[in-house]
Amino acid sequence: MGETSEKSILIAGAGPTGLALALELARRGIKSRLVAKAAGPAPLHESRALGVNARTLTLLEASGVSALILAKARRLTKFKIASSGKPLLTIETESFRSRYCPIQILPQGQTERFLLQRLLAFGITPEWSAELIPASGDVQKPVVTLQHADGRTETVEPDLLIGTDGAHSAVRQAFGFTFPGNALESRFFLADYRYAQPVDTGFIEMNFLNPGVLGRLPVNEDTLRYLSTDADFETRIEHPAMVLERTWASDFRISFRHVETMSRGKVYLAGDAAHVHSPAGARGMNLGIEDACWLAWLIAERREQDYSALRLPAVRTVLKDTRRNTAFITLKNPILTRLRSLLLPLANHVPLISNAFLRNAAGQDTPPPPWIPGAQ
Ligand SMILES: Cc1cc2nc3c(=O)[nH]c(=O)nc-3n(C[C@H](O)[C@H](O)[C@H](O)COP(=O)(O)OP(=O)(O)OC[C@H]3O[C@@H](n4cnc5c(N)ncnc54)[C@H](O)[C@@H]3O)c2cc1C
Repeated sequence: MGETSEKSILIAGAGPTGLALALELARRGIKSRLVAKAAGPAPLHESRALGVNARTLTLLEASGVSALILAKARRLTKFKIASSGKPLLTIETESFRSRYCPIQILPQGQTERFLLQRLLAFGITPEWSAELIPASGDVQKPVVTLQHADGRTETVEPDLLIGTDGAHSAVRQAFGFTFPGNALESRFFLADYRYAQPVDTGFIEMNFLNPGVLGRLPVNEDTLRYLSTDADFETRIEHPAMVLERTWASDFRISFRHVETMSRGKVYLAGDAAHVHSPAGARGMNLGIEDACWLAWLIAERREQDYSALRLPAVRTVLKDTRRNTAFITLKNPILTRLRSLLLPLANHVPLISNAFLRNAAGQDTPPPPWIPGAQ
């Protein structure tokens, strides 16, 4: 068990949230034990969360992760919105006044590897292929069993148990956290294509199909992601170069849910374990990393009991934003889609709208970290 002078801390889950939490604790001299059911970080070919926002870069500067991300990630210079191929609105990121570009593009597996690299430098190695099975639901005295890949089991009674074990969190379910919300009827589909030559990776485009949408996002120098609400979307893609391979495809239903409290007794939740929402806005991974950084700071300050009250407003804000973004891009009503096409070009001339959009994309619509002077 990772021991501090006072508390033993067990973190269940080594996705971006668990890795960031263990790292932010370690850089403050607090050891934790990090276990994960997975055999390692997310596979590199599954691009998953692609956007690293400015808030995350601010948060991960002190641990040295931001420098690694910036050396490898791609800057987004434009967000484009079109309707049936006709341009409606372009928002340039250069106009955004901040230390960092609102969103940098890096596949999730790479971001996880950078977090891991810095964590290893602090002498902490996640225990992979170790599944946590809750043994008691007593939040004042959590007891868990760890099932290791070699068949070994052990019982652990940590002083603090932190569930960063993703959307289907065993910790959340066993320790009595409710997870209210709803799922959308429609499914989302995505496919990543690798091309025979480098492609323009400087922009994201959302093309409304009326109804439905086809999104185009950069993954890396020769790979683009397409996503849609339409299962047949791949026939509508206009490939910018010769396709070498489809590197990854997936489909998912979107739920909007968050726990009513992010801690109960000695049990804490962060990341997807505590909240799930649409990827519209690229907030999922970023919000989890932000939870992790706040919780590590509060533990170091011996104020972890304040965590839920401080984080829930940010979670509510992001769920509200992503609900609004999702409703906007999935409009079906023909009158509303027509109105959207008429109004969006006007926004090209209203800097207030593009600033609000960029602030949101940068993740700067939640409270800034109080421990970083001057943070936005
Ligand atoms: C197909 C797909 C596409 C996505 N696309 C996007 C996107 O475009 N943009 C975006 O922002 N987000 C996207 N996401 C969401 C994003 O990946 C998540 O928000 C992010 O990974 C959350 O990080 P996390 O660390 O909280 O949870 P996860 O990344 O889910 O990590 C959970 C960790 O917990 C471990 N674990 C689970 N159960 C147990 C257990 N019982 N015991 C021990 N360990 C356990 C897992 O092994 C893993 O290490 C996507 C997700 C998926 C699956």
